[in-house]
Amino acid sequence: MTISASQFAQAYLSKGQLPDLSKLPTGHWINGAFCHSAGSAMESFDPGLGRAFASFSAGTAQDVARAVEAANTALKDWRHSTPEQRSHLLNRMAALLLEDLETLAFFESLDSGKTLTEARGDLRSAANFFAYYASVARTLEGRALPTDAQHMSWTLREPVGVTAHIIPWNYPTSTFARSVAPALAAGCTVVAKPAETTPFTALLMGQLLAKAGLPAGVVNVVTGLGPVVGAALAQHPKVRHITFTGSVQSGVTVAQSAAPHVASLTLELGGKSPLIALSDCNIDTTADAALWAIYSNAGQICSAGSRLVVQRSIHSALLEALVRKTSLLRVGHGLRDLDVGAINSGQQLAKIAGHVDAARARGAAIPVGGHSGADNPLDTGWFYRPTILDDLPHNDPCVQEEIFGPVLAVQVVDDDEEALAAANGTAFGLYAGIFTQDISRALRLARDLDAGQVTINDYWAGGVSVPFGGNKQSGYGREKGQEGLAAYLSTKSISVKV
Ligand code: ADP
Repeated sequence: MTISASQFAQAYLSKGQLPDLSKLPTGHWINGAFCHSAGSAMESFDPGLGRAFASFSAGTAQDVARAVEAANTALKDWRHSTPEQRSHLLNRMAALLLEDLETLAFFESLDSGKTLTEARGDLRSAANFFAYYASVARTLEGRALPTDAQHMSWTLREPVGVTAHIIPWNYPTSTFARSVAPALAAGCTVVAKPAETTPFTALLMGQLLAKAGLPAGVVNVVTGLGPVVGAALAQHPKVRHITFTGSVQSGVTVAQSAAPHVASLTLELGGKSPLIALSDCNIDTTADAALWAIYSNAGQICSAGSRLVVQRSIHSALLEALVRKTSLLRVGHGLRDLDVGAINSGQQLAKIAGHVDAARARGAAIPVGGHSGADNPLDTGWFYRPTILDDLPHNDPCVQEEIFGPVLAVQVVDDDEEALAAANGTAFGLYAGIFTQDISRALRLARDLDAGQVTINDYWAGGVSVPFGGNKQSGYGREKGQEGLAAYLSTKSISVKV
């Protein structure tokens, strides 16, 4: 009988007990086995209690070199695996993830601070990526090209080679799957590096992929610090593509490291995404969408709707609905599975609080939230109350800078033109939502928004098949969907004289 994550959670919260699978892997996953690190150990924290619960390896450049060598060796056979083999294996991985969902969700919630419901959602989304790319793996076709009567030409789509995947801490399992699944579908091999605060599910997924039948060395996982393990991966000359999700600053460093050996990059960086509420929108549904656009995952989402760009005529009605709904949200340990979980680290909490305190000092109106803390005094970890900063000027740092927490910055505008200028008026361009009953208004804005993805009358929309990625400093390249495969494929043209 499967033990549910909620049962594990109860044993942990009431007695401090970890499941018997508490033997979490402590080494790296290289060449089909857990192995010792050349480095020392690091602690992983339970953000809900703010204390360490397990340790893992702080990898070194030597560990990275071993993993890249394993991936490079495995590439020789894996690049020639058939579409059927890849597809079968990815489907099997999707099934295994669903079989182990409760265990993995427990660890993901414990390690990241997200609610159990969110952790389960992240796992389902990871399984969905593997299942989706299992189908896409069967569709990799080249094209026959018209040239002249003396030649026949066509293209082959070949794997780019060894790929590096630098994973963030906010969605550790689905971000892993989002890039590793298409890389495998394309015939590439993988070295993944999870974030230093959420190392475990990537290691467990490495192991699950082996159980699904993946040959040794095709996927390797090295844990440790970004500036050590991530940097060594980005600098490694045998790494041909790097998929990075994280901050702008680290993304720029990775791009600089990759430049000397001309590795290609997919960069999914920050966002300051607007939810645009126009005068004729439905106040209640827009308030609900805005609520979850910013407070899902405690606001720790690159594409969070962290700005509400609202038309003046509905500002007070929408604000009133939002403040009312926000003040009802329950905040607590991820394993209590309330509405809003923990902030992933003490450092991140300090960053969020610093932004809000500075806004307060500048005179910002804060109708709800504005401080840290959970509902239950036993939850002594890192929490921030869902917060609204009302009617900020467009050049306010809380409008321009990514906070990555449950903090909504409200900007008031008079008309569509001003809404568009406000929405496009940051260094980012990842995602945007538009709320209106007038489809022409919505489509004009959708056309002119400088963002990689736009939704209308819903904020979180589009599953694994819908391309995702940013413009401007939000990065470049697209993940998800068939476009998500492009980064892992290189086109070879062949011509023959006839
Ligand atoms: P955040 O600031 O949100 O924590 P980061 O960009 O620091 O985001 O982290 C995202 C991922 O990038 C993590 O896996 C982290 O370890 C890694 N990382 C951080 N700095 C570097 C770096 N200099 N080179 C390569 N990877 C890095």
